Amino acid sequence: MREVMLIKNGELAMKGLNRSTFEVALVKNLHTSLKSLGEFDIRRAQSTIFVEPRSEDIDWDLACERVSKVFGLAAFTRARLCEKDMAVILENTVDYLQDALEEVSTFKVEAKRADKTFPLTSPQICATTGEYLLEKFPHLSVDVHEPEFTVMIEIRDFGAYIHAPQTPGAGGMPVGTGGKAAILISGGIDSPVAAWMMAKRGIELSGIHFASPPYTSERAEQKVLSLIGKVAQYAGKIPVYIVPFTHIQEEIGKHCPEDLFTLIMRRFMMRISQKLADIHHCEALITGESVGQVASQTMTAIACTEAVCDMPVFRPLIGMDKEEIIRISRKIDTFDISIQPYEDCCTVFTPRHPRTHPKRDMLELAEQALDVDALVEEAVAGVRRVMIYP
Ligand code: ATP
Ligand code: MG
Repeated sequence: MREVMLIKNGELAMKGLNRSTFEVALVKNLHTSLKSLGEFDIRRAQSTIFVEPRSEDIDWDLACERVSKVFGLAAFTRARLCEKDMAVILENTVDYLQDALEEVSTFKVEAKRADKTFPLTSPQICATTGEYLLEKFPHLSVDVHEPEFTVMIEIRDFGAYIHAPQTPGAGGMPVGTGGKAAILISGGIDSPVAAWMMAKRGIELSGIHFASPPYTSERAEQKVLSLIGKVAQYAGKIPVYIVPFTHIQEEIGKHCPEDLFTLIMRRFMMRISQKLADIHHCEALITGESVGQVASQTMTAIACTEAVCDMPVFRPLIGMDKEEIIRISRKIDTFDISIQPYEDCCTVFTPRHPRTHPKRDMLELAEQALDVDALVEEAVAGVRRVMIYP
């Protein structure tokens, strides 16, 4: 008995990108996401992608869960593949969809016949299957307008596919079709959501995390890597660059006015991130900022941090409420990790009265007390890379 997955790609999202580029990227990403589960055949034909396990011991439920997270999929379904013979199709329909049919009281059958050499037409396939199912399941009746369940039968080149209606996929664009960008990731709620949102638009991610040991712990870093691991289930493998930030924070603490700590620190983050992005061929930076959420995220404060950077900075959460952000973080399963109480470098050095409407020249003046370039170079030289797989 062969079970396969049928995948429809998101055709509406394909404007501006040709079908082949889109599908090649999608197939590659499906391979990446399924790789650790075993070997699969993945091929495309007639605007559908077919996924079939090469051995029987593969965890098929887990494979379906993985596929449901791959961006670029409009919809997908598991299906039974059988011989193109009406008697075999009927027998397999009962066997494969029995549980679903027992739970409902009305149904209809939809058939598609891509292989025109099959002797029955689509309406004939529907009628024959409908009659057979009514006989096998006497509690059922047919409702063609609002059925509780629809049996789908597709006659294609390679065989007959029997399945239930498709479930929606993750949507978006295949990761990699939109270029590369670096997400500044903390252990908070926002940045993993921002990462997920940009991956959904087809952007391949690298992660940048600033750590300040011994003020921040090994476990705080592990927390960030676990968050990236959740995002990687959607975005594919993600290299994470861990930047040693202690010396910079201590220098700021020693030499700069306390009310400007956070902003000067954020400006260093942007400078270092831009350097790393250049080295690793990322075309933009991504942050989890949202207007007004904290003192460092007023419009004037954002203007001051962005001023040190001449690469596009994407802030996909900029106009979202915390509630909306939390809803997504629950959906992508990062929320419970984000709320674990490990300190971030930002919280270690929080000023008592942060300035909410800074002037850029104020910051530039304060930074004159530091050797900015040398500190940036030193941090970049100390970066560690960790590769995170889905
Ligand atoms: P988050 O929930 O993502 O931590 P936040 O609301 O706590 O965001 P801030 O702490 O002001 O906001 O950080 C704003 C943004 O700066 C974050 O969304 C993230 O992109 C980046 N950032 C903050 N701390 C770090 C860090 N330690 N390493 C890398 N990026 C960071
Ligand atoms: Mg934070």
